[in-house]
Amino acid sequence: MRIQDVHTYVLRAELREPFGSSQRWVEGRSAVLVRVVTDDGRSGWGEAYGPRIPEAVSVLIQAAIKPLIVNEEADRIEYLWQRMYGALRDSGQKGVAVAAISAVDIALWDLNARELQVPVYRLLGGPVRTRIDAYATGLYFPRQGDPVAAAVEEASRYAREGFRLIKLKGGLDSALDIARIRAVQAAVGSNVAVALDVNHSLHPSAAISLGRKLEELGVSWFEEPVQPEDYEGYARVRAALDIPVAGGEAEYTSYGFRELVSRRCVDILQPDVCSTGGFTEARRVAAIAHAWGLRCFPHVWGTPIALAAAAHFLAALPNPVASLQPEPVWLEVDRSTNPLRDEIAEPPFRLSDGAVEVPDSPGLGVEIDEEALKRFLVPEYSYFSHAHSIEGPV
Ligand code: MG
Repeated sequence: MRIQDVHTYVLRAELREPFGSSQRWVEGRSAVLVRVVTDDGRSGWGEAYGPRIPEAVSVLIQAAIKPLIVNEEADRIEYLWQRMYGALRDSGQKGVAVAAISAVDIALWDLNARELQVPVYRLLGGPVRTRIDAYATGLYFPRQGDPVAAAVEEASRYAREGFRLIKLKGGLDSALDIARIRAVQAAVGSNVAVALDVNHSLHPSAAISLGRKLEELGVSWFEEPVQPEDYEGYARVRAALDIPVAGGEAEYTSYGFRELVSRRCVDILQPDVCSTGGFTEARRVAAIAHAWGLRCFPHVWGTPIALAAAAHFLAALPNPVASLQPEPVWLEVDRSTNPLRDEIAEPPFRLSDGAVEVPDSPGLGVEIDEEALKRFLVPEYSYFSHAHSIEGPV
C-alpha cells in the first residue's frame, strides 16, 4: 500500500451575516482538505486548521510534502511524520507548515484505519470512552443589535439542544463580558456551565483582573487570556488566579507544548489535531499533559473531518486524574455559521443528552459528499487528479 498521490481541496464560503471575535470579523469560512491516495485505490482524508490561508497550506503540501511521501509505504506514519517535519523544520516549526503536516498525518491515520476496518480510536490505543461530553462554542459578537440579548438568545438555544457547557467569546470590553456572562447564566440556569474565550486580546494585568471576576461568577475556564508568544504573561496570569487557564490553539507540536507546560502557563491544553501535527503529534502532546496531570481538551474549528478527528483523539485520551468518577473531557462543537461544516458531509455524530457517540465505522467515520465539495471549491489552489472521481484542475 504505497502512497500514489496527495490531493488538496481549498474550500471557501462567504457568510451573509458576519460575526466577530476579539481579533476579527469572520466574513467567510474556509478549509483545506487533503486526500492521500494509494496505489491500490484506497484513500484517507485529513484537514488542516488555518482558515485564514488555506491556499498556502495547499501549495505547501503539493510543492514540499507530496514529493517526500509519494511511493512511500502508507503505514509508516511515524517515519513519514519525521520525514515531513524534518524537511520543513528549518523554515516552519509553527504555523502553516505544521498545519500542512497535520492534514496529511490525519489522512494517513484515516487511510490505515479504513484499511484495517477499525475506527481511528482503536489505533490510538482503544476507547477510554466512546461517549464524550460536548460543549457549544458560539456567542460571538453580532455586527448589529444588542450583544447581551443576542448572547442570551443563542445560549438558550444551545441549552435547549442539551449542551451543558457553553463557551462565549469576549475580550473587547470586560464590562460587556461580565454582563453577557451574567445574563447567560441567569437564562440557562445552574445546570449549564459557561467558559470564556478572549482569543489572546489582553495584557496580563487586564487578564488577571478579568479573571478574578470570572472566578466570582464560577466560570469553568478562561481561554487564551494573553498572546500565545507571551509565556511569561501566561504564567503570571495562571499563578494569580484559581480559575483554570486554557490555551494552545495557537501552539504547535510537542516542542511548543513543552514550553507552554514547563513554563506553567496553562491548566488546560488545547491542541488542535488539525494544526498541532495531526494525531501523531497530538498523542505526544497528550502524553505531556498526562505526565503533568493537566487536562487536554482539543480545539476544533472546522469541517466534520476536524470534529471527528478531535472525537477520536478524546476517545483514546486517558482520564486526567484517576477516579471512580472521572471528570469529563470536553469536545468542542463550534456552532457558529459554517456552510462547509454543514454541507460537505453528514455530521459524524449527533448530540444527545449533552454528549456524542464517537463514530465506530472504519477510519474517521466521515464520508465526504464530493458533489457538495465542488460547490465550495477554489479551483486555482486545489489539486487533484481526474482519475479520482472529482473532475477539476490538476
Ligand atoms: Mg479559542
